Amino acid sequence: MVALSIRHLNKTYKNGVQALKDISLDVQKGDFFALLGPNGAGKSTTIGIVSSLVNKSGGEVSIFGHSLDSERELAKRKLGVVPQEFNFNQFEKVFDIVTTQAGYYGIAPAPARAAAEKYLRQLGLWDKRDSQARQLSGGMKRRLMIARALVHEPELLILDEPTAGVDIELRRSMWDFLTELNRKGKTIILTTHYLEEAESLCRHIAIIDHGTLVENTDMKSLLEKL
Ligand code: ADP
Ligand code: ADP
Repeated sequence: MVALSIRHLNKTYKNGVQALKDISLDVQKGDFFALLGPNGAGKSTTIGIVSSLVNKSGGEVSIFGHSLDSERELAKRKLGVVPQEFNFNQFEKVFDIVTTQAGYYGIAPAPARAAAEKYLRQLGLWDKRDSQARQLSGGMKRRLMIARALVHEPELLILDEPTAGVDIELRRSMWDFLTELNRKGKTIILTTHYLEEAESLCRHIAIIDHGTLVENTDMKSLLEKL
């Protein structure tokens, strides 16, 4: 089963920048997939389109068979996204940020609280549940974003540069967390500009450069080529 299907995706921003040029790729259910490329390659634009934050100029995207054009709400239900920027309310409490997100998906208060507790515990944030987000360190904020993205139990998790600006110790524990999540069946896609990160975690890799897909292969074949 295909978790994410991208067909002939194009994006031209209003300023004329052609950020994506005819990108097509499939990510299979259960895969751990890296989207690698230098700054400005088009990684965030791709994620922005998949998560309905950026309008595409052309092409088709579907998530577990649900097209973003015709079944956007069903598609969104299957997807959790961890964007690069911290986009929560800094004055809201950690626990409330996660349960509020569950509410957006129509999850009732009791199961929302249970799911929030589960993921805050797994991510080592349970002790911080009553803190305002602004009181957390950068690494904790990053983990809060992951808990929030998982609270509605999406089948596909997408993370945009999850370990950018994260120290080596936390990077390792985040890698372990994501590996375990994938082992339990979650499909994971991350963007990175570190080949080392992709190599440590991912089974498949796509490389984009200047908005063009230049490689789409399994990690083993790529490493043999290099
Ligand atoms: P869309 O085509 O999706 O509607 P826009 O072209 O309107 O997107 O741009 C969205 C916002 O991003 C605008 O406020 C724009 O000023 C800002 N922006 C412009 N150039 C860049 C850039 N190079 N990187 C990030 N943001 C930018
Ligand atoms: P990456 O995530 O790989 O660093 P992006 O998707 O952010 O790449 O950017 C791809 C290209 O699109 C870059 O040239 C960037 O400057 C441009 N860009 C990104 N966002 C906007 C925007 N909102 N408006 C105009 N140009 C943008």
